Amino acid sequence: MSSQIYDCIVIGAGIQGSCTAYYLAKNNKKTLLLEQFVLPHSRGSSHGQTRIIRKAYEQDFYVRMMEECYTLWAELEREADVKLYRRTGLLLLGPENGRGFPIVKDTLQRNKVPIVVLKREEFSQHIPNFNLSSGDGALVDTTAGVLYADKALVAIRRLFKSHGGVIKDGEKVIGITPGPVVTVTTASGAYQAKKLVITAGPWANTLLSHTGLELPLQVTKLNVCYWQEKVPGSYDIRNRFPCFVQVESLESEHHIYGLPSNEYPGLMKVCYHIGKDTDPDGRDRQTNQDDIEILKRYITRCMPGLVPVPAVVESCLYTITPDTDFVLDRHPTYSNIVIGAGFSGHGFKFGPVIGKILYELSTEQVPSHDLAPFKISRFQAHSKSAL
Ligand SMILES: Cc1cc2nc3c(=O)[nH]c(=O)nc-3n(C[C@H](O)[C@H](O)[C@H](O)COP(=O)(O)OP(=O)(O)OC[C@H]3O[C@@H](n4cnc5c(N)ncnc54)[C@H](O)[C@@H]3O)c2cc1C
Repeated sequence: MSSQIYDCIVIGAGIQGSCTAYYLAKNNKKTLLLEQFVLPHSRGSSHGQTRIIRKAYEQDFYVRMMEECYTLWAELEREADVKLYRRTGLLLLGPENGRGFPIVKDTLQRNKVPIVVLKREEFSQHIPNFNLSSGDGALVDTTAGVLYADKALVAIRRLFKSHGGVIKDGEKVIGITPGPVVTVTTASGAYQAKKLVITAGPWANTLLSHTGLELPLQVTKLNVCYWQEKVPGSYDIRNRFPCFVQVESLESEHHIYGLPSNEYPGLMKVCYHIGKDTDPDGRDRQTNQDDIEILKRYITRCMPGLVPVPAVVESCLYTITPDTDFVLDRHPTYSNIVIGAGFSGHGFKFGPVIGKILYELSTEQVPSHDLAPFKISRFQAHSKSAL
């Protein structure tokens, strides 16, 4: 056992754990970040080159968190001296008389987020190579864009270390002994800290089982699909093609989303927001491709400039709560254990604000956002505490 007692140990070096560890170290807390795999890795939820950042949400609380988060991303870019965000705008499409589109539009307008509402007759002039479905409205969240995810992880972990933080990768946590000083055991040793933050992504419940808690989390595998442009450049970020989210299409009631061609030249990323249940350690044994069939039909109908067969398919995991809102809370039994979990396929963009909130919770500060939507008690019926 190491003789040092850390102020805080963070388990899991995905975007949420890395950001939390960064804010702890930046605020002079002796922090150890433990990661089961050798970094970088592609087995969790935070890998890959790009993610969408947007304020287009149904709920005011997410818009408010994103207001601060854009500032935090810009601060990180400055401190790391690396570009992590590229503004592209986000095209939101959906039935004008449907459920999702009018709510997001109202929320954006109420929160005075700059948007452009596109009329049907001017749509193709602004967004070439895209067919607007009959009955669909279209608007652009002009604040939105692409985050360079892998670069962000590298930069944040580098900043963490520059503030004195310690990363131990390739060290899987196999035991947690709660107490005023928490002991965390890995295959290579044991570490102690006054506070513990668990940000273990798809493995959250495996870690929480050591503390007698189980959250209602569903782990699913997403097929991350890239589609070839028929005419090179037609969906390219350099030609200012936007990100998009389609809600309630003919093909599915669930979201379909896309990012312009960027990381793989000539290939646009278009994905379906729903995956199939999987064991995070057996991800590659989950081979269901129903989502790809939905995407093929959508692309054939709405994006005729793409070849409707994916050129590249990668894998990623979602960890979903029943209401798709996050878990940001203290452990119900052990108040010096803080949990960040259930980011439900939309957590990357919030990384810095979540890191700041988990840092605040673990240092007993008043959190800078209302955490009522993120409390574990909302699952009361499901959770089973040891005590
Ligand atoms: C295909 C796809 C597209 C997405 N698109 C977007 C998007 O456009 N915009 C957006 O905002 N979000 C998006 N997301 C969601 C976002 O990427 C996730 O919400 C976010 O990455 C979750 O981060 P995390 O840190 O909670 O989890 P992870 O990244 O999974 O990190 C958890 C870490 O904990 C480690 N760990 C687990 N158990 C242990 C252990 N026992 N010991 C040590 N370490 C352990 C894991 O190895 C892992 O590194 C997308 C996700 C996917 C999969």
